[in-house]
Amino acid sequence: MPRLSTPRVERRRRFRAKLVRWFRRHGRDLPWRRTRDPYRVLVSEMMLQQTQVGRVVDFYARFLGQFPTIEALAAAPPARVREAWAGLGYYRRAADLHRLARVVTADHGGAIPADPDVLVRLPGVGPYTAGAVASFAYERAAPAVDTNVARVLRRAFHPRAAGAAGDRRLRDTAAGFVRRSGPSAWTFNQALMELGALVCTARVARCGSCPVRRECVTGMRDRGER
Ligand code: SF4
Repeated sequence: MPRLSTPRVERRRRFRAKLVRWFRRHGRDLPWRRTRDPYRVLVSEMMLQQTQVGRVVDFYARFLGQFPTIEALAAAPPARVREAWAGLGYYRRAADLHRLARVVTADHGGAIPADPDVLVRLPGVGPYTAGAVASFAYERAAPAVDTNVARVLRRAFHPRAAGAAGDRRLRDTAAGFVRRSGPSAWTFNQALMELGALVCTARVARCGSCPVRRECVTGMRDRGER
């Protein structure tokens, strides 16, 4: 049976295609984008919570130099982990990451789980981080909706989304874009995040230079088309 193609489906197909094309040209070359190692991906995600990319890059390399594996981190005394985190702030993240390393080595044989439903039960891991690790380390078809991604999806598809119901809607939309596991799930989630970091930012929506402005409700309004 032929696949149904409605204007909504078509718009989302174009949104995805243009976003991915833009990301391939303009996405930043960040160290955690060069790896699928679950431990490295997890460390980057914990560090990126509440800290800018530019600051994380140096800390990330230094931290992994000191704790190159999850076993090394699990075996370290808490004071050493805290010391390695010094300067990044929000030390709670370091304590959570350390506890997580101990749980994963004790209960999961040192293998960071791939299933978001299992990941989310680990210390310091919320729905976003669970989706990000599943997608960025294992290329699973999992949505990864942080504040950047939520903002893009809200502006692009659901400008009136608010509250818990709005959050669910955004998450469902994000999930609809990543139905199949594999490199395309990784790329789409990275691309959406990158658009929110570089173009559709909290401070300003640069609709005039946005690759998906023709597929975005806010972008269309900006051009007087709605
Ligand atoms: S067109 Fe504007 S509002 Fe829409 S995603 Fe691009 S920058 Fe954001």
